[in-house]
Order: sequence, then structure tokens, then C-alpha cells
Amino acid sequence: MSIQQHLTEIRNTLPSGVTLIAVSKTKPVSAIQEAYDCGQRDFGENKVQEMNDKQPQLPADIRWHLIGHLQSNKVKYIAPYVHLIHSVDSLSLLEEINKQALKHNRVIDCLLQFHIAQEETKFGLDFDEATVLIEGAKFFRNVRFTGVMGMATFTDDEKQVRDEFKILNSYFNKLKSEYFHGEDSFINVSMGMSDDYELAIAEGSTMIRVGSKIFGER
Ligand SMILES: *Cc1c(COP(=O)(O)O)cnc(C)c1O
Repeated sequence: MSIQQHLTEIRNTLPSGVTLIAVSKTKPVSAIQEAYDCGQRDFGENKVQEMNDKQPQLPADIRWHLIGHLQSNKVKYIAPYVHLIHSVDSLSLLEEINKQALKHNRVIDCLLQFHIAQEETKFGLDFDEATVLIEGAKFFRNVRFTGVMGMATFTDDEKQVRDEFKILNSYFNKLKSEYFHGEDSFINVSMGMSDDYELAIAEGSTMIRVGSKIFGER
């Protein structure tokens, strides 16, 4: 099946209000252009250097999502154009994003990344850490929280995956009512990948990050 066919198949099942982010990591610029020509505008990359290499070669109206772990010293490379950073998990990182955003006279949208999986290796906050981070960021003027992100455990156990998505959605609702009440921009629950996005949507996802199901195995 072609990129176009995969995109169409996924889009046909998407409820309105759910954004499809095409995760193009390791894939060539030509594959991204092909998806772009089918109307896709949101693309996700997990490495700063790779995103930075691709961005100038592609149309300027692409919305670039940084979905992987981000080191503070690399923020400056993506600050001029990044659309949304999904992986904010420390105050020092957020401070650097704020600083670089100010240099470019912009406000950079960010998601709080939560640790919801059982695996040890995945990055992310727990709920209390997130509240500390939000308090610490109170006076940052050039970043804006627009929601939460998480990755479920890599397992065939559907119930476990579903339960982890439920937890992330409950964190979102709790933060919304306790910290972002009345803010129209706190709206994103970024969860769901190629193997679990249908479950994620059923549990309240508003952004799915799909790579291999669009572009083929990496
Ligand atoms: C690679 C990646 C995805 C997409 O994974 P697929 O299984 O290829 O859909 C989604 N989110 C993050 C954070 C990733 O690194």
C-alpha cells in the first residue's frame, strides 16, 4: 500500500477533533513530501538534528512536532520554527525553551510528558512533579502549556494499554480543572501510535502520533 492509501485509511477512522501527526523519523524527505502532497501538514520527529536537516528542504507551512526526548542545549536549533514540543519533562528544559522562544519573539507551545508505562526507560513526569513544574513556570511568558503527552507500555495486553491511557486522560482533566480552568488553549492529549491509536482515541486522545503505519517499518 502507498503512503496515500495508508493516510486515507487512517483518516477515514478519525473522529473530528483528533489530529494525525505523521511520524517521519528515519524516513527521507521524499516520503514526507509525498504525505504533504496528500494534504498532511503535521509531522513528528524525535531527533533535533534530523528535524533540522529536513525542515528547510520542505514546505514552510508544515507543522513540526518534536516528540522525542529533548536536551536543553539543542532547543536553540528548533526554536525558530517548532510548532509543538511534546516532551517537556523538567523545569530546566522549559526555562531554556522560554529563553530561546523569547529570542525569536514567539510563544512556543508545549506538552507535559507523563510517565504512564511500566517500562523504566521511558521519560516523563508523575502527577506531583508536573504540578511543581507548572508552579515553577508561572512567570514564563514565552511558553504555553497546551496539554499532556504519554506513551503506553509496549505490550499485547489491551487492558493495560487502555488503563494507562485512562490515567493520562485523568491527569489531563485534573490539570485542566486545577491549573488551566477557563484557558481555551489547554486542549491536547497526545497519545496513541501505530499499534494502539484506536484504543487511545477511545480513551480521549486528541493527537495520535503514527509512524510505521503510514511510512512502513523503520
Ligand atoms: C516513533 C514514535 C512514534 C510513532 O511510532 P510508530 O509505532 O511507528 O507509529 C510515536 N511517538 C513517539 C514518541 C515516537 O518516538
